[in-house]
Amino acid sequence: MSKLKVIITGVAGKMGRMLVNKIVKDKDLQLIGGVDIKEVGRDIGEVAEVGELGIKVVDKLVCLLEETSPEVILDFTCSEVAYKHILTAVKNHIPIIVGTTGIPLAKLQALKEEIENANIGVIIAPNFSIGAVLSILIAQQVAHYLRDVEIIELHHSQKLDAPSGTSLYTAQKLNEVFKKDIEESKNTKSHIFYGIPIHSVRLPGLVAHQEIIFGGEGQVLTIRHDSLSRESFWPGIKLAMTKIKEIKGLVIGLENLLK
Ligand code: NAD
Repeated sequence: MSKLKVIITGVAGKMGRMLVNKIVKDKDLQLIGGVDIKEVGRDIGEVAEVGELGIKVVDKLVCLLEETSPEVILDFTCSEVAYKHILTAVKNHIPIIVGTTGIPLAKLQALKEEIENANIGVIIAPNFSIGAVLSILIAQQVAHYLRDVEIIELHHSQKLDAPSGTSLYTAQKLNEVFKKDIEESKNTKSHIFYGIPIHSVRLPGLVAHQEIIFGGEGQVLTIRHDSLSRESFWPGIKLAMTKIKEIKGLVIGLENLLK
């Protein structure tokens, strides 16, 4: 079987470099290009410290698409850029897997029809760590019995967005169970999303962690997930790449690939 040809956007970033490390060692995948506004012109392998690969970092996805024919784009950039990359992927009929957080859900939902018409798969997941996704699924079960909950999300100090995409997604999924009137609770605390308070911590030393804390009479139930290194995201990303060709349309959330 031929290898799946992959382009990474945000290749010089923390996730991008981890992905280069994983992809070059993977028998099913072939890295054919990388885009970033940093390290432009440098060898991607040198940037990721895996040795020379003979592929240079370029600064525009559209230029790379004129020269290469990827079968999937992996995006780990920032929200505005990722959104533009999704539009480019759809226009060029190339499947895309997006881990970048912070793209408003409404903006993604608005692209649903366009993606279906392009007949490609677009997978977007705020968290590719299988443990984190399972913690949300477990929390949804708990939410049937305990209705008071708050979320604490803790990340490294360079993280650009707050609250994290994972915490917003968790709150959204919990509110699918609670069906709280979101408008009602909107103004009582500034950090309430989908009717659920979210607290953000940013400190050096952290990677990506989340606590979903349920309170009841005389008891507290805490569901905690810790990503101790960026490698925790790889099995979920690999799963998405394994499935991307068979998927047509927009898929939001890794849990939809676990079924
Ligand atoms: P990072 O800042 O280390 O990397 C982002 C990279 O994108 C940088 O190298 C930056 O130069 C590049 N970039 C910025 N503008 C660009 C453009 N116009 N074209 C190409 N590249 C551009 O951040 P990171 O820690 O690697 O995380 C990236 C994103 O992935 C964030 O949104 C983060 O929240 C998200 N993330 C998601 C998951 C998940 O499981 N879904 C896991 C970790 C991180």
